[in-house]
Amino acid sequence: MPGRTLPGPGRFGLFIGGGWREAEGGATFTVLDPADGSVLASVADGSARDAIEALDAADAARPEWAASAPRDRGEILRRAFDLIRSRADELAELISLEMGKTVAEARGEVAYGNEFLRWFSEEAVRIHGRWMHAPDGAGRLLTIRKPIGPCLLITPWNFPMAMGTRKIGPAIAAGCTMVVKPAELTPLTMLALADILTEAGLPPGVLNVVPTSRAAGMSEALMADPRLRKVSFTGSTPVGRRLVRQSADRLQRLSMELGGNAPFLVFEDADVDAAVDGAMLAKMRNMGEACTAANRFLVHADVARRFAEQLADRMGRLIVGRGQDPGVDVGPLIDERAVGSVHRLVTGAVRDGARLVTGGRAPERPGCFYLPTVLLDVHPDSEINGQEIFGPVAPIGVFSTEEEAVRRANTTEYGLAAYVFTRDLARTVRLAESLEYGMVGVNTGLISNPAAPFGGMKASGFGREGGFEGIEEYLETTYVALPAG
Ligand code: NAD
Repeated sequence: MPGRTLPGPGRFGLFIGGGWREAEGGATFTVLDPADGSVLASVADGSARDAIEALDAADAARPEWAASAPRDRGEILRRAFDLIRSRADELAELISLEMGKTVAEARGEVAYGNEFLRWFSEEAVRIHGRWMHAPDGAGRLLTIRKPIGPCLLITPWNFPMAMGTRKIGPAIAAGCTMVVKPAELTPLTMLALADILTEAGLPPGVLNVVPTSRAAGMSEALMADPRLRKVSFTGSTPVGRRLVRQSADRLQRLSMELGGNAPFLVFEDADVDAAVDGAMLAKMRNMGEACTAANRFLVHADVARRFAEQLADRMGRLIVGRGQDPGVDVGPLIDERAVGSVHRLVTGAVRDGARLVTGGRAPERPGCFYLPTVLLDVHPDSEINGQEIFGPVAPIGVFSTEEEAVRRANTTEYGLAAYVFTRDLARTVRLAESLEYGMVGVNTGLISNPAAPFGGMKASGFGREGGFEGIEEYLETTYVALPAG
């Protein structure tokens, strides 16, 4: 039973074959409000067998959906985009409640996440094959693009809507059917999306949503099934590695959007005020709980103190509280474990010699909160520099040369996003080419854009979401050899 009245349709079942139903044995799990730990809703807890039934539905819908007119698929996405836009406030409230971010930030997520539906509504009609003369002139080469087939889409808790629409949009546009497994901490937004896509005209079985508290068993069962052709995963690198191994037997196609450790480089020629503005965005979006969050600030010695003082001043003035309360800038972290992990990294950095400029502790109030924190002179080998912080903490290290900055920026197994602040064009070009990252923001703290290919390299994974590349992840190619005629 839901603990309180939530915005949205308020359905908490499994969505399979176009209908809502209970999980096997009536199993449920609870979704908590991260601000105070109270119960928001009790959600059907899908079993491996439920997931296979969802795959049955996806497989049954596959041939007709694959043969549907691209324009029809595009128009369903476009109608969903319009519906979401008209219900943006309601969805933002729901995201804020289950995930913790402020309602204003959640509105930003709804707008951003929804743009993937609009973008892919436009891409559905631009799936191209090719026709060419064989180089020797003796034949003709034709390529056909085909939907890859039933997909498993697994999403994290930090952007309950956007991480879903980035996968669902291109999968629908390409003509694929799917089983979506939302994060168990934040499944409610995805359930609301299932209702909206149905209202927009999506046929039964194309999209199936199976929340579960037993993700490993579910993914093992689905990935052992030869009907599943693709897994798109957004989440942590350790789980990503496990899924890559798990895909070996059936050789499913994979997209892996994994963890990050973004460097944020500020050079001596940078506009420091603009760099602080960019830092606030790159660090504090989503309370720092973003894979693209600036994780290591590397600032030239000439401007480091000024940058740190200005950033600490801005961070120290942010109001921490419930995401739904007016005037709040920073909501709670997702759970107690997250608070403990962030605090452990901060105390470790201080032990290694860093100076605490602001924050450094949880505020004196119950709930999963942490004060915005700035650390200066962080030792390069401090643990905080080696892993994702996933919280409102800005560790600043100081460098002297561009070569040192690039070397330190690249000294990580991750390669998702990097940020650079400089006014030197030649340096910008050098950095764009030498930073081993899938995305580089230049003089901006915000790089996510549905029209751009989002994704990483190295331990941040492979595959791209958004842009022209996004739909490619859901298409196969058949090449047809023809005689010259
Ligand atoms: P997580 O890896 O713990 O969980 C992600 C999803 O995987 C959840 O739905 C979870 O239930 C599921 N899962 C866990 N074990 C599984 C298994 N064995 N089989 C199948 N599914 C399984 O990550 P999280 O804590 O939810 O999210 C935070 C992480 O996601 C961070 O590392 C962050 O950087 C990353 N992330 C990456 C991107 C990107 O685009 N690169 C975007 C957002 C978040």
